[in-house]
Amino acid sequence: MPFDSFIGNSKALAAVREMVAGSRVPGSLLFSGPDGVGKKTLARMLAKALVCERNKGDFCDACARCRKAEEMFTTAQEDLARRREMKDAARRVEGLVYFDFQILEPLTRFILTEQIRQLRHVAYTRPFEFPRRIFIIDDAQTVHWQAADLLLKVLEEPPETTSFILVCSNPYELRPTIRSRCLQILFQPVAESTILELLARQERLNKTQMVLAARVASGSVAKARSFDLAAYEQRRKPWLEFLGAVARRVPASSGPTDWRPLFDSAKALAENRDDFEATLDIGYSLLRDLLHVLLQGPETEVTNVDELPRLQAWAAHLGLQGIEFLKSGLDQAYRLQIRNVNQQLGFEALGLEAYARSKVLQR
Ligand SMILES: [Zn+2]
Repeated sequence: MPFDSFIGNSKALAAVREMVAGSRVPGSLLFSGPDGVGKKTLARMLAKALVCERNKGDFCDACARCRKAEEMFTTAQEDLARRREMKDAARRVEGLVYFDFQILEPLTRFILTEQIRQLRHVAYTRPFEFPRRIFIIDDAQTVHWQAADLLLKVLEEPPETTSFILVCSNPYELRPTIRSRCLQILFQPVAESTILELLARQERLNKTQMVLAARVASGSVAKARSFDLAAYEQRRKPWLEFLGAVARRVPASSGPTDWRPLFDSAKALAENRDDFEATLDIGYSLLRDLLHVLLQGPETEVTNVDELPRLQAWAAHLGLQGIEFLKSGLDQAYRLQIRNVNQQLGFEALGLEAYARSKVLQR
């Protein structure tokens, strides 16, 4: 899998290839851009290309050194995953071992001081197996504030044989002093056409489903690759039922209205608690779609393309006001969620908001 197999972000790829070809890899790099667009993948490719036995300026993924490099990264990640599970905080950082090629990840919410201290210790020593060390610091914005100065010191006095690749989605979450020490390479969301090509090669989705997957992934190769249609449909189902229930009653006819299905739907939304955030995302994406459909925006803006007929019918029923009130209900549910209030309560708020809304519409 040489550099040519990298999908999207051709500018970032070209910059990396040029560094490797000219053997000019800076002491500190910063790969920044949205999640799932290949920042870590390209960092690992860079590392392999520095040591590959077969391909000059590229890598083969097959020679002994490429395989060794892959093994180092994988072992490092497995080790961190194991440590994250440990309850005893002291043991979590006990005996940290750094390979020549290493990925650092947060062990708690943070990359801990001990992780950076050990990194500094190793960075100035001679590499064991490869001519150069590559340390990838993933989620670099999570470096604990107590360790940020330590990291800065290392970046200011770059070790001869170690390069650091800091990876993060938002470079402005890093300290300006750290950011300014690094050569920054920007990553962008990957074009929809590129992601559709990738999905077509996978041959597992039909045309409409591929468009749905690409829009849900919104520029993320990783998300598109792992898109699980059945799981998505399952999470979306209560939302569709909820919207269907609301739309059936708005504009409501005179006479008594049975609101129970609406509340049941709102309750069903809260059942899948582990996935609450993804669930809310789907709610927002459906409301955005309703708005686009209502305002007759371009179809390329609609995420849930497979539900277009229903969305059109609901949008016509709800009107602009109805959609906006649903959105304020969802905002309320979201606020309660970020304040860690009971999720059920959040969704009840959504149901109540919708209820209040339709009362207004009835008048
Ligand atoms: Zn190789």
